[in-house]
Amino acid sequence: MMIIMQPGASKSQVAHVINHIEENNLFAHVIEGVEQTIIGAVGESHAVPKEIFEVLPGVLSVTRISQPYKLGSRQFHPENSVFSLDGFAVGGDEIAIIAGPCSVESRTQLLEIAQAVREAGANALRGGVFKPRTSPYVFQGLGEEGLEYLAEARELTGMPIVAEIMAVSQVDVMVKYVDVLQVGARNMQNYNLLRAIGETRTSVLLKRGLSATIEELLMASEYILSGGNTRVMLCERGIRTFETATRNTTDINAIPVLKSLTHLPVILDPSHSTGDSAYVASIAKAAVAAGADGLIIEVHNDPSHALSDGRQSLTPENFAKLVRQVKAVAEAVDRKLAPVKANL
Ligand code: PEP
Ligand code: MN
Repeated sequence: MMIIMQPGASKSQVAHVINHIEENNLFAHVIEGVEQTIIGAVGESHAVPKEIFEVLPGVLSVTRISQPYKLGSRQFHPENSVFSLDGFAVGGDEIAIIAGPCSVESRTQLLEIAQAVREAGANALRGGVFKPRTSPYVFQGLGEEGLEYLAEARELTGMPIVAEIMAVSQVDVMVKYVDVLQVGARNMQNYNLLRAIGETRTSVLLKRGLSATIEELLMASEYILSGGNTRVMLCERGIRTFETATRNTTDINAIPVLKSLTHLPVILDPSHSTGDSAYVASIAKAAVAAGADGLIIEVHNDPSHALSDGRQSLTPENFAKLVRQVKAVAEAVDRKLAPVKANL
């Protein structure tokens, strides 16, 4: 339920409404606009009549949100959500580019790639340290040692860092080191993990599950939003289809569909969606043309020796070329690339 306060409603009227929401075992989420305050009342609200809020002083109107996803819906929050990430904003006019290796493999590997992607135009650095590998017998990531290298790379380049979290037990250590918690495709429906991340105030990149619908992705994001963490970006990374020519099938449709259903920023991962470095640039350009707010791209200084996802990793040179082309596409759709940090 969405409770729209009258313009100029007082703080005590807002507090009174929040009290009422909580007395009815619902959670209140307040959006303070310039002119008006909107309060979302979420939980098992179907059993609560909206009339009990309509009569409260300062309330202008009460509407039920028709979609099953509430806090992420455009109905609740018509404007795009824009949030800043150390030096740039996601979700506004600018397109953010996150780049880096699939896995952090060593200090030298990471620092070299970090500098190369920043010079080529990346705004943020990615690198996995807890890796969700299909086989338990292959490289599983460096764990906390990898987080130390990521922190050093941030120090060196000024770029915020993005790394995948796989378990609730990793929340404390991850929050200490990273700027963005990536929830991988395989964990999109790990509801305990989503709730734990909802309790943090660290930004999140929530990837779509391998065979999850758009609605399931939006419902997963509600687990984080309802904990009070509003800094959520959604990421299309390809879905399983009958097609075997590529690792996954990029659901380009998901970009405009998500942009119409939700106010959350939408990011595309053409590396995992294609699984082949030969196709990454084409799909990256298509995504920006389709309205994506950002890209996350795997880059490796020696792709043929990468410990994971080498086949889909771009060399720094090819990544630099992609950035130049993406810039032109962004301008064609009245957007621009987010500014790259000046030399520190
Ligand atoms: C990754 O980003 O390296 C990764 C494992 O992605 P996904 O969860 O989309 O497969
Ligand atoms: Mn990968």
